[in-house]
Amino acid sequence: MKNKAILMDRDGTVIKEKPGTYLSDPKGVKLYKNTLKAFKLFKEMGYKLFIVSNQSGIGRGYFGEAEVNAVNQRMCQLLKEAADIDGIYYCPHAPNENCSCRKPAPGLGLKLIKEHNIDVANSFMIGDKKSDMDFAANIGMRGIMVLTANGKRQKAKYAPQLKNVKICLDIYGAAKYIKELSK
Ligand SMILES: [Mg+2]
Ligand SMILES: [Zn+2]
Repeated sequence: MKNKAILMDRDGTVIKEKPGTYLSDPKGVKLYKNTLKAFKLFKEMGYKLFIVSNQSGIGRGYFGEAEVNAVNQRMCQLLKEAADIDGIYYCPHAPNENCSCRKPAPGLGLKLIKEHNIDVANSFMIGDKKSDMDFAANIGMRGIMVLTANGKRQKAKYAPQLKNVKICLDIYGAAKYIKELSK
């Protein structure tokens, strides 16, 4: 049996992000007010939960893997009352490294799908940027864009390209939409 999954961007989707900044301090980790509700609903519906994140702050030399791991650990601690995360995948490269794992490139998604035997057709990718939606398309998964953090500006900037993408207010909006689809 394959597993259905929710793949999520980290910054600006699950935890708060100030666009243009790079989070490296676990004390700065804050969930959106609806994140726990969303995670409870995902679990209730039987999804495995994954984070797929670009952490170019490493490649740019702003911080190291240790800082990213500390932030991830803090996020998991805050999420624990709602759900355990089944896996966190991140790209440490800078954009000019042309790696195969920086979203929208499919690398991390393909790895995750293989390692966790994911049912792509019944899974979703949620994020606040067009690149998250392109990533979803590149791995053959449905994408849902949220309007938190970069979402509103990205929606305006890429309106024509996003016209077939489902857009929700926030991660809980996305969870309710997925629930609606499964009825
Ligand atoms: Mg984001
Ligand atoms: Zn990479």
